[in-house]
Amino acid sequence: MTADHRIVVVGGGIAGLTAAHVLGADHDVLLLEGSPAVGGKLRTVEVAGVRVDVGAEAMLNRRPEGVELARELGLPVVHPTAAASRVWSRGALRPLPRSLMGVPFDLDELAASGVLSAEGLDRARREVLTPWTGDDVSVGDLVAARLGEEVVDRLVEPLLGGVYAGRAHEISTYAAMPQLAAMAARGSLLEQAAAVPASDVPVFAGVEGGLGSLPEALVAAGRFELRTGAVVRALRHVPGGLELTVGSARDPETLRADRVMLATPPAAAARLLGAVAPDSAAALATVGTASVAVTTLAFRTEDLPDLAGMSGFLVPPVEGLRIKASTFSFAKWDWVRASGDGLLVLRTSLGRHGEETSLQATDAQLVAASLADLRATVGIRSAPVETHVQRWGGALPQYSVGHQALVARVRAGLVGSGVTVCGAAYDGVGIPAVIGSARRAAALAVAAE
Ligand SMILES: Cc1cc2nc3c(=O)[nH]c(=O)nc-3n(C[C@H](O)[C@H](O)[C@H](O)COP(=O)(O)OP(=O)(O)OC[C@H]3O[C@@H](n4cnc5c(N)ncnc54)[C@H](O)[C@@H]3O)c2cc1C
Repeated sequence: MTADHRIVVVGGGIAGLTAAHVLGADHDVLLLEGSPAVGGKLRTVEVAGVRVDVGAEAMLNRRPEGVELARELGLPVVHPTAAASRVWSRGALRPLPRSLMGVPFDLDELAASGVLSAEGLDRARREVLTPWTGDDVSVGDLVAARLGEEVVDRLVEPLLGGVYAGRAHEISTYAAMPQLAAMAARGSLLEQAAAVPASDVPVFAGVEGGLGSLPEALVAAGRFELRTGAVVRALRHVPGGLELTVGSARDPETLRADRVMLATPPAAAARLLGAVAPDSAAALATVGTASVAVTTLAFRTEDLPDLAGMSGFLVPPVEGLRIKASTFSFAKWDWVRASGDGLLVLRTSLGRHGEETSLQATDAQLVAASLADLRATVGIRSAPVETHVQRWGGALPQYSVGHQALVARVRAGLVGSGVTVCGAAYDGVGIPAVIGSARRAAALAVAAE
């Protein structure tokens, strides 16, 4: 059976959903999602009756795309409470100093936090103005040369690890932190960071009821046709357009499209592009990904120690714990706390790029590892009443040094092919960046009409 469609979007994460929503205003759009449900890494579930996000849980508020989309869809945008995040460093929970992804705004605040040793702090104070060649380098190499390795180990690593689940000495400055590259080109990082004006605008935003409401609302807006459980297995050019093979190998279905947008993770996009844009496919196939797991733990209120004023904490790899962060969802989000009814829900995250073996454990083992680390750090000694483990295999694309050039190569190979790409592999992994990527790809998809 062959059916004709104007535009087919492959992948129903926030990128594909946004693109389909935008394009669906003026075009006939079909969205094909391989799994049983849309949302990708945006997923809200109930744990012990409490609704919580088990994937992404906050989006940058200082970029407009995420909050604008949520508001357009009529969703209640909220901000985290004033509870502050900490960092587990040198055997204690310390205040997380304000920084630009680890480059401190205020050295006195950094000193008071105790995050660095006296030697590390002394080295950070003596910034070395290494010449900026303009070539891409890793964030870790750049900051270590300027401010010393300890700033990387204890500030940059946990912050970058939280966003990319990657390693500071591998992640591209241009792709992940272009502001830092611009600052390095201009001069002292410390002087420029110290001059960043204070702002009352909240850094993060969320959606009451969970970020999983965003995909639901995009589907409910009804601008496109949706098919779930529709894995796209092949893509090829045919006279006058493109043809997709969808469904099981035994009973495949063929769909025709004028344009195709691939909003899948990079490995799937690379496979699908093999026949239509081999150079783009080859470039995308080299993008690594990190696998992560999120455990959600529901405790009776009376079973938790006093965690007042804390929204969670980050853990640098150098500390040797299994978890890399814990978010006290009940303290961070009023709506989670309000729905708790005598229960407090928090989550831990585990897994970094290159450490896939650390996740080769049963769910019970990941929960046990999380509980052991929570006991060692914040003194939680009681057992949770319910737990949930969400694994995200190959979830976070790694922006290695040279990533921007790689993305340019992917896009160059697609010119004139009728295929566009968007999603977390290209213009940033955070939700606002992914939404921006989808909007740009949508404009490009119809630009040549
Ligand atoms: C645990 C975790 C926590 C995060 N926390 C945050 C956060 O707090 N804030 C933030 O801004 N970002 C966060 N991120 C990052 C952000 O959530 C993701 O980068 C973003 O959601 C990715 O969206 P996407 O649409 O590009 O990809 P995905 O969400 O991966 O969606 C891709 C979709 O394509 C489908 N697909 C794949 N192959 C095929 C195929 N062949 N045919 C059909 N469909 C296919 C998949 O099933 C999936 O639904 C987090 C990520 C993870 C994993």
